[in-house]
Amino acid sequence: MPDEMSRPLVPGWRESGGSRQLEASLSDPNTPTIGILGTGDFSRSLARRLVASGYQVVVGSRSPARSVALFPEEVEVSSQMEAATQADVVFVAVFPEHHSTLVTLKSALAGKTLVDVSNSLGINRDGPSYAEHLSNLFPDSFVVKGFNTLSAWTLQMGPRHGIRQVPLCGNSSKAKDLVKHICHRMGFIPVDMGFLSSSLEVENLPHHLFPSWRIPVLCMLCLFIFFYLYNFIQEVIHPLVKTGKGAFYKMPIEVVNASLPSVALVMLALVYLPGLFAAFIQLQWGTKYKRFPDWLDRWLTARKQFGLCSFLCAVTHAVYSLSLPLRKSARYKLSNMAYQQVKAGVEDSWNDEEVWRMELYVSAGIMALGLLSLLAVTSLPSVANTLNWREFTFIQSSLGFCALVTATAHTLIFGWNRAFAAARYPFYLPPSFVLVLILPCFVLCGRLALLLPCVAGRLWKIRRGWERSRQIRFALPGEDCRNGVEDVSNV
Ligand code: NAP
Repeated sequence: MPDEMSRPLVPGWRESGGSRQLEASLSDPNTPTIGILGTGDFSRSLARRLVASGYQVVVGSRSPARSVALFPEEVEVSSQMEAATQADVVFVAVFPEHHSTLVTLKSALAGKTLVDVSNSLGINRDGPSYAEHLSNLFPDSFVVKGFNTLSAWTLQMGPRHGIRQVPLCGNSSKAKDLVKHICHRMGFIPVDMGFLSSSLEVENLPHHLFPSWRIPVLCMLCLFIFFYLYNFIQEVIHPLVKTGKGAFYKMPIEVVNASLPSVALVMLALVYLPGLFAAFIQLQWGTKYKRFPDWLDRWLTARKQFGLCSFLCAVTHAVYSLSLPLRKSARYKLSNMAYQQVKAGVEDSWNDEEVWRMELYVSAGIMALGLLSLLAVTSLPSVANTLNWREFTFIQSSLGFCALVTATAHTLIFGWNRAFAAARYPFYLPPSFVLVLILPCFVLCGRLALLLPCVAGRLWKIRRGWERSRQIRFALPGEDCRNGVEDVSNV
């Protein structure tokens, strides 16, 4: 790292007259001088990025003589007071527990913009934030919270190597605009998060661990455990109880492969179920201007994650299915079957019905996987950004339902006549492919109900702003009504 740090960020910068370019940009009277308090990892990366963006940088250290060698020659390293006095904007790259040691700089920093880059050790729910604390310490300065979501490494490498968005917040719009401009010039995209009261949220951002994925992933794991145990009882425990011969070899591949498509199908149905609930709730309420219950709101916003979990299970199922004939057990079974047929004198074991079933089953599976892949790709922000709203909803809603139909058809064809064979109901339990069809069939029937013209028309009106409780019925003069408006209480 020290070697990396001592290398210039822009290759050949010094040799190709970088200082001259810097001088040119510094001659612009609007270019502010940037101060950085602290000489740690963050300060060093920030200083280099700022210099590469054409800023004059002055770093304030408690011991400048010791720290000067850590910075490129374009950066001035001086005392904290000198840096605070010279700079127009000051980045506070000091751990928050040491913010109070900077109060001696109060008068030098008065009227200036202070950028608080500090991060907490964990999620702080109660506040106040470090930025608010810094603002209390320096009431005459304008504190802006930001850059804490970038690591020293990202700053060192620049925006081309990763995160480009930088959330910022602060009470002074002038100070925020100044920091936004610096941010832009460094190649990052500032995201205005509002007033300093949002700083707690900005400070907590680097500590979130996939918050929107928690429930979908938990749901996927629970479903997998349920279906795995269900199939384990049917495929392993039942033969053990009945014949005394355990088929434990099925545990790593066959049982897993029987559980994965069930999870994929249920998760896909769970993508479209909240939309149905929302539509029926709106029909029931007769308005769209009423908030959905919190659980439904959260479910609606997690649909993308549910869909991607479904895609993961479907892809894994496809890979497992392709590997089935590679197993030794499959080869033994095949050769045993062939031997039994020869022994029984069967010359041709071709079964038209079985052949058709398999062809249709595989074809529907491939189509469903293809459509799911399309949904997964278009849910990526970079791809979604290239689509307009109509294209996005066409893919995610119409093609999504097509994926649900083909995946359901894939399972139905797998069931074919097996669903009616008594041998498929060990311990009186229905096979998992029957169980798994309940939810998707329910969702598809619900969707069909919403397509009925009388229902679709009313839903369309509600979504265009029509409200049942504000409906005015005009009556012709002479009819039994007051002022031509009937049911005034409803207006
Ligand atoms: P660091 O390497 O430990 O540097 C902190 C610097 O603070 C020291 O080098 C020291 O410089 C200065 N300092 C001033 N007063 C001090 C005091 N009383 N006691 C100790 N040090 C004092 O820390 P860092 O990693 O650069 O982080 C600095 C700030 O940036 C932190 O608030 C951190 O949360 C934030 N941040 C860091 C990263 C990262 O990737 N490192 C990412 C996002 C945010 P002098 O001795 O020269 O005065």
